[in-house]
Amino acid sequence: RAPLLDVTNLHVEFRTQYGVAKAVNGANFRLAPGETLAILGESGCGKSVTAQAIMGILDTPPGYVTQGEIRYRGVDLLKLTEEKRRKVRANRIAMIFQDALSSLNPVYTVGFQLGELFRKHRGMSRADAKKRSIDLLEQVKIPAARTRVDDYPHQFSGGMRQRVMIAMALALDPEVLIADEPTTALDVTVQAQIMGLLADLQQQRNMGLILITHDMGVVADVADRISVMYAGKVVEEAGIYDIYARPAHPYTKALLESIPRLDMKGQQLSVIQGLPPLLTDVPKGCAFNPRCRYARDACRQDPAPPAYAVAPNRTARCHFFREVIGE
Ligand code: SF4
Ligand code: MG
Repeated sequence: RAPLLDVTNLHVEFRTQYGVAKAVNGANFRLAPGETLAILGESGCGKSVTAQAIMGILDTPPGYVTQGEIRYRGVDLLKLTEEKRRKVRANRIAMIFQDALSSLNPVYTVGFQLGELFRKHRGMSRADAKKRSIDLLEQVKIPAARTRVDDYPHQFSGGMRQRVMIAMALALDPEVLIADEPTTALDVTVQAQIMGLLADLQQQRNMGLILITHDMGVVADVADRISVMYAGKVVEEAGIYDIYARPAHPYTKALLESIPRLDMKGQQLSVIQGLPPLLTDVPKGCAFNPRCRYARDACRQDPAPPAYAVAPNRTARCHFFREVIGE
């Protein structure tokens, strides 16, 4: 399948008082129509910045795309005028965030905010826009949509508000939905419901879905492929089954070991020691080496590990992936 979205060699830099932070340092992603890609990693590894670059919402200082291509249906979004870019953002690629309140306006009812989208972008009448808004609230499984459409954002629970935000994002039928930590602020039961809803909507609409998360546990059931990011690079990329069954990168392995499991109740979780590096000061060689239990001399020397082909459609940036995968 030809990719819907094809990100090649993306570099994003931030000027900070400590120097240049390489937030994204040569990242590659592909998303096919109807595919769900999870982008995984701890915070500060470049996941959100990647999403913002795709959306074109960091084009203002201090963040800059310094290199790379972001092709949407073959067209490099980085070469579009701001006006065309805005159109893509409004109609084709939508994004939802962890905090629904920040993307909803507190002073208008959700029906008004949804209706505005239909009136402004689809030229609908007030009555039609309201009807469509109710439809959409029903699609995201908000009970009593017909009355709730007249409620304000603060009158919804956290989970329901997340559903409203999803409705807003889907209003103009995007082909790609990017969800940045969409369930992190919610409790576990609601998390699962929202993930289930996203998965259903993705299927019904045959959308491309990018799920950004630090939690490998929440994407296991819904993602087709996973890209694991560390220090601004994709360190492992593979199909969901391979990643969970036989991770090829020590970082992926460590993330997997940190997923809470029911059969481990009461046991200490293995969390990865240390923190991701400051992006102004990434370690020489493999950026993961100070935290890696497989590290040896070669890992502390430049060049950094390339994206080794582990199998068809599967890469890992680890010199010793064979050893890691074979364990
Ligand atoms: Fe660990 Fe070395 Fe592989 Fe990096 S290259 S992940 S330090 S074994
Ligand atoms: Mg983030």
